[in-house]
Amino acid sequence: LPAEFEEAKEVLGAIQQAGFEAYFVGGSVRDTVLKFKIHDVDIATSAYPSEVKKIFKKTVDTGIEHGTVTVLDHGRAYEITTFRTESTYQDFRRPDHVEFVRSLKEDLKRRDLTINALAMRPDGEIIDLFNGLRDLKEGNIRAVGIAEKRFHEDALRMMRAVRFASQLDFAIEKNTLEAIRHNARLLQNVAVERIHVEWIKLLLGKNPKTALKDFLVTDLYRYCPLFADKKAIFEKMLTFENLQIGSEDAAWTLLCYLSNFSSSAVKKMLRAWKSSNDLIDNVTIATGVVDLIEQQKMNTWIYYKSGFHRLEIANEVATILGFGIDHAVLKENYAALPIKNKHEMKINGGTLIKNLRIKPGPQLGRVLTEIEHMVVTGKLENQTAVLLKAAKKQFEMEE
Ligand code: ATP
Ligand code: MG
Repeated sequence: LPAEFEEAKEVLGAIQQAGFEAYFVGGSVRDTVLKFKIHDVDIATSAYPSEVKKIFKKTVDTGIEHGTVTVLDHGRAYEITTFRTESTYQDFRRPDHVEFVRSLKEDLKRRDLTINALAMRPDGEIIDLFNGLRDLKEGNIRAVGIAEKRFHEDALRMMRAVRFASQLDFAIEKNTLEAIRHNARLLQNVAVERIHVEWIKLLLGKNPKTALKDFLVTDLYRYCPLFADKKAIFEKMLTFENLQIGSEDAAWTLLCYLSNFSSSAVKKMLRAWKSSNDLIDNVTIATGVVDLIEQQKMNTWIYYKSGFHRLEIANEVATILGFGIDHAVLKENYAALPIKNKHEMKINGGTLIKNLRIKPGPQLGRVLTEIEHMVVTGKLENQTAVLLKAAKKQFEMEE
């Protein structure tokens, strides 16, 4: 057993001592069978949340309405969720309420894919009620139970199926794929934030190309924000020999670059996907930089204005497209910049106001930017006296 499970065994033991069942479930069991590194250890139990809370000294109600209590043990946190069914579904979204049950089988039945419906006893024995082990071995993505029905209950499961196909480099089983094709339009009812998570995991996965093909043939893409007219772009992505994408920033930058997006089109797309402002800023700038790399128009000022993180994103995309700059060269060029940001300049607005008796205003801003440009491009040495003299000249010229 992985160390994470060994450490958690005591917690399961305590639940069993109190007379309830407890199992490892979900992604960590799947990843253990695959011999992958596991991230979070999820525990399922027949004990109700109130009963779990009586067993442990330190607990936090992190999601008690859907049955999850977090137990703190030896500085670690474990999410313990009561067996549950998700009975009433509305509008193909998540269930509006859950029902706690005492049976493991009921809990495993409501899970999305056979490979995600395995449970493991503390001694390592696996409980496999839906042939999840076979599917793991054969590399199949298969819905638990009747696929049609399961995608009706929660349409996000279709996106999860394609994302796991990419992450694990598995093939979606025929019947499940057919059910996705048939129900793709239901994805419209799912919150964008949830689709977003799966979409990015798909693109960053081990085999995004196969998953993208499924995304296209099932028509799922049509029901994602602003993707309806992007078929040709995804097809273009399928033609790249090596489509290994390292970050979400790079994933969107690639998509926006291939779409020939202006800054405002980038922003519109990413807002439709409810992205963070950080992501929007990075992708907007990086998309422009990819273009400059391709046209061999990179210069010191672009390096400076982009910042290293965005340069790396742009260059990762340029590399996928076949015109990237050698990473060591990119790093050297950046390191060679006289200053990395304007706070490193030896003068600022305050210095100019004080020394040259200039009033704050747009003119001051213009002069400062001009000086900044000259420092960055090596035309001026970054020394107070030198910059003051240059600033004075600039003001006189403006006058
Ligand atoms: P990851 O490694 O990405 O965390 P995971 O399988 O653990 O993968 P989670 O989203 O953490 O995915 O969900 C944990 C478990 O809950 C899944 O393994 C699955 O059994 C179940 N599950 C998650 N989302 C759904 C869903 N939409 N419908 C049914 N079961 C789900
Ligand atoms: Mg998980």
